[in-house]
Order: sequence, then C-alpha cells, then structure tokens
Amino acid sequence: MADRYLSLTGTAPGRFLTRRLGLPQPARLRRWSAEQPSLQGRLMHLTAGRSDLDLAPVLALAGLDLDLVPAGSALDLGTENPVAVVLDATGVRDVDTLAEVHAALHPVVRSVAASGRIVVLGSPTDPADHHQAAVQQGLEGFVRSLGKEIGRGRTVNLVRLTDARAAESTFRFLLSPRSAYVSGQVVEIGDGETGNGAPADWRKPLAGRTALVTGAARGIGEAVAATLARDGARVVCLDVPAAGADLAAAARRLDGVALPLDITADDAGARIADALPEGLDVLVHNAGITRDRRLVNMPAERWSSVLDVNLASVLRTTDALLTGGTLRAGGRIVATASIAGIAGNAGQTNYAASKAGIVGLVRALGPRALSEYGVTVNAVAPGFIETRMTAAVPLFIREAGRRMNSLSQGGLPADVAETTAWFAGPGSGAVNGQVVRVCGQSLLGA
Ligand code: NAD
Repeated sequence: MADRYLSLTGTAPGRFLTRRLGLPQPARLRRWSAEQPSLQGRLMHLTAGRSDLDLAPVLALAGLDLDLVPAGSALDLGTENPVAVVLDATGVRDVDTLAEVHAALHPVVRSVAASGRIVVLGSPTDPADHHQAAVQQGLEGFVRSLGKEIGRGRTVNLVRLTDARAAESTFRFLLSPRSAYVSGQVVEIGDGETGNGAPADWRKPLAGRTALVTGAARGIGEAVAATLARDGARVVCLDVPAAGADLAAAARRLDGVALPLDITADDAGARIADALPEGLDVLVHNAGITRDRRLVNMPAERWSSVLDVNLASVLRTTDALLTGGTLRAGGRIVATASIAGIAGNAGQTNYAASKAGIVGLVRALGPRALSEYGVTVNAVAPGFIETRMTAAVPLFIREAGRRMNSLSQGGLPADVAETTAWFAGPGSGAVNGQVVRVCGQSLLGA
C-alpha cells in the first residue's frame, strides 16, 4: 500500500499545507541505487577527549566517496556542508570530557546535509571505572536523543569499538545510503582478530558464497535474496510449497535456486543440508507469521503456530546446519526479530515472545558459534516495513505505525535487506551477537 502522505509532503502545496497544520514532515530518504551507491561529499572527523584509536586510515579507505576533513582542521561551513560526521568519543572518561561531545557537534549539527550521517564512536564501558562507564553510557542517551530531534532524513548511531580496522564494514554501511532507515542504534564491534577480513571487491563482497533465505517468495525475504544476489551471492530461496509459483519466479529473477519447503517440517534441516551438499555461507532466517489476538482470546493453536514458525524452526534448523557442518567456517547467521519483541505490542503476546526469543538466541549463541564454528549470529529487528503483512493492518493503526518514528515514514524491505547484507559480509566477522533495529528509530520501546 503506497504511502500517500509521503507523496503529498513531497509536493510544494502539500508541504505548505501539512506544515501549517503542524503535521510530520517526512524527508525523502536517499537509499542505495546502482547510479548512486555511496554518499558523496565531505566526511568530518571530530574528536572529543584524547583518543588512542587509529581511525583516520580506516576512514580514508576508498569506497566511501567521501572527502575526509581530518580531526583538528577547520571546515568552512559556509560553503561545504558535511554529508557525514564521525565523532570519536572513545576517550571520553569523565563529565568534563563529555562536554567536548557537545562542543564538537553543537557548531556543526545544523549544517549536516539532508540524509546525512552522524556516527559517534564510544568505548566499551569499563566495569572497573564507574566514571568512564557512566559517561560512555551517557553517549547512548545523547545519540538516541539527537536521532529523534535532527530531522531531514539524517541518522545518528553509536558504535562501540576498540580497534578501528575491525569496524571497516560497519563504517561502510553506516556512512552510506544503505543505512537510510537505521537510526538511534548502538553497535558493539568485537576485536580485530575475529572474522575473515576484507572481501577482494567491496562491490561484490559475497562473490563465491552461497546464501539461503527463508520466506523468500515475497516481502522482506524477497528483497534480502535480491540484495545478497546484488552483492555477488548465489542464492537459494526457500518458502512454503503453496508459494511455489512466486518462489520460482523470485529465484529465476536472481539466477538462484528455489527450495519449496515448510520450515516447520521436522526434517527441514536435513532437507536443506541435502539440497546444499557443497555447504552454505549465509543463513537468513526471515520466514515469519503473525496470528494476533489478545491473550484472553488466543487459542493454543494461534500460540503454537507462531512460536513454531518464528522461533522453534529457527532453533531447529540453526542447530542442524551448524552442528552438521553445512554452515561453513566464516559463515553468517542472520535472524529476524521485530521491535514488537523488544517493546511488546497489544495483541501480539505470541509474536513478541517468538521475536524476543530471537534476541535471546542471538545473544547466547553469537559468542559460542564464533569460537566453536567461526560463524557469527546477528539479528535485524524491523519496525514498520511496507509489505503485504503491514498492508493488512487496519488504516488508523497503519498510519500510526508509519509516522511514529524519527523519520516519520515506514521502511522498505530493501532497508532490512541492506542491514542483513552488512551482517552477512565477509568483512563483518567482528560484528557478532548484535540486534540492530531497522525502524527509523521507532518511538515504540527504547
Ligand atoms: P510476509 O508475510 O510478506 O512474508 C513472509 C514469507 O514467509 C512468506 O512468503 C511466507 O510464505 C513465508 N513463510 C511463512 N511461513 C513459512 C514456513 N512455515 N516455511 C517457509 N516459509 C514460510 O512477511 P514480511 O513482512 O516480509 O516479514 C518477513 C519477516 O520480517 C518476518 O519474520 C516478520 O515477522 C518480520 N517482520 C516484519 C515486519 C514488517 O513490518 N513487515 C516488522 C517486523 C518484523
């Protein structure tokens, strides 16, 4: 269902009218396109506190198409608005140096271009130093608040890291049009020793890799398969046999393979393994269903069908493909949570339990899967995404879902797909156990 309000505010009379009425002003987000794959313009590198991070060489890496303004040098804000700002606040250890965050960003925040990016870098909180822990946690509140107030399609995210090189794939994602609908998020990067290093070609990072996407006949899953294929993967598209025609068409468009299979079947793991004798590199658990009812009206069947598709089958197939060796070392698992699993939602006790379960799975399995199998485990948590699932939502609730986020609009399946592709990349070995919301910083929950 098209977002007519977004189209209306894209016209001059519509903008005039909605402004006069004090209504939300969603910006047209700049997303990835083959013609404009990267942000172009100036990247400003700022520092608060004394930093030990060797950041400049990583930011200077080609591929960003950004003109780096190094830390300490002046930028003529009159003529050259930055499209991206990276503020290194890893050295902030007390309230006095936290003031340097304000001092650094206060003069530039107004001039950041529309659809621009602000990425704040923090350090892991130090349990032995409660002053450092307090102000580093303070960065989270700062980033989430700036994301809510900055407007014009601009995003603000926090990355906690100790080694800049381990965050290269994350910079390439957050400082690009591919993260258009990701704002107010906190990502923790592991140490640089994990992972499998940079791909030979950042434009085709998944070349030579095989990816399986469940629920790929339509909606978000179809977009994920298309994005992974764009990035060079050979894709295997899985969906229920009843979706066979759509599934076959989706796989054909991507030069991929269709695998009609109900993921809740007891032997689903074994059948996937049989279909992939040469192994698998990327496993995307996307298939999901809703069966909404308030708990007082919810029969057991509505509970169990949602838990079976959204969580139990994810656990079963993950176990089978990981322990059976189908998922190769260097592999990536990306599961699909939801903001409902984080914030809760009336009428969705079953769905939210299943999606919160995904968060628990990712946090527990991530570290173990990496040390035992060399595989990372992360989750995307979509907010309101324009799909058939949300088109079926009653009009008033649908409009509220679309507008109640910092970007005042719904996301597109491609937004979830881009975040999945970042997790799936060979350069993202240090990104593990993370749950990143793709929700335009929804006002539901944290
Ligand atoms: P969708 O209903 O459009 O597509 C889901 C696909 O999964 C369908 O093709 C369906 O046939 C398939 N599927 C369902 N049960 C299956 C099974 N047993 N075996 C194999 N395939 C099965 O949904 P969508 O909006 O694209 O959502 C995709 C994922 O994103 C789901 O996990 C959903 O919970 C999650 N999500 C979506 C939104 C949103 O706003 N659309 C928000 C949060 C989370």
